[in-house]
Amino acid sequence: MNDEGKAFFNHLSDGINDKENNTETEVVFGKSEVIVGNFVTSQIDIADIDQFNEGGSDIDYSKPTGATKQGKLIHELVEQHQKAKGRDLDSAHKPASEAEGAVNGNKRLGKKWADGSWQDTFTSKKHGPGHARQVFREKDGTTTTVIYKYTSGVISVVGQRRPTGKSKDK
Ligand SMILES: [Zn+2]
Repeated sequence: MNDEGKAFFNHLSDGINDKENNTETEVVFGKSEVIVGNFVTSQIDIADIDQFNEGGSDIDYSKPTGATKQGKLIHELVEQHQKAKGRDLDSAHKPASEAEGAVNGNKRLGKKWADGSWQDTFTSKKHGPGHARQVFREKDGTTTTVIYKYTSGVISVVGQRRPTGKSKDK
C-alpha cells in the first residue's frame, strides 16, 4: 500500500475503532442541500465526491493530484468522527482537511484570519458566487487550484489549474 492508501486506512480505522464515539453518516446521491458533505445533517453526497480526480493504487502520487474522490470521502468521514467526539464544524474541519491532504498526497492550503478563524474554501473570484475554490500544495512544490460549481444537485468541477509556482524538478 502506498502512503496515501495507508493514510486512508488509518483515518478510517480511527473512526471505526472508536467505540466510545459512534460515527453515523447517511449517504445521499446528488442532493442539492448537500455540497460534498453536510456537517449538520451528517450526510455525504457520493455523486459530488465522484466528480473529483481519481486516486487509489493505480495513481502516481509523485505527480500533482489536486482534489481526489478518496480525499473528499475521508474528509467527510473524519469530520463526522470529530462531530461524534463533540466538536463543532470549525474545529472538526481542520483535521478533516489535514486527512484529505494526506490521502491526496498533497496539502490543502488554508488561511488564518485576524479573528483566529481558519478557512480553506473560498469563493472563486474568476467564476463568482456558487463556485468554490480550493488550493493544494503538491509533492513537487507546485500548487493546484480546484474550482467547483455547487448550484445544482451534483456539483461540477469547472477548473483544475496547475501548476502555479515552480516544480522542484525544474
Ligand atoms: Zn470540512
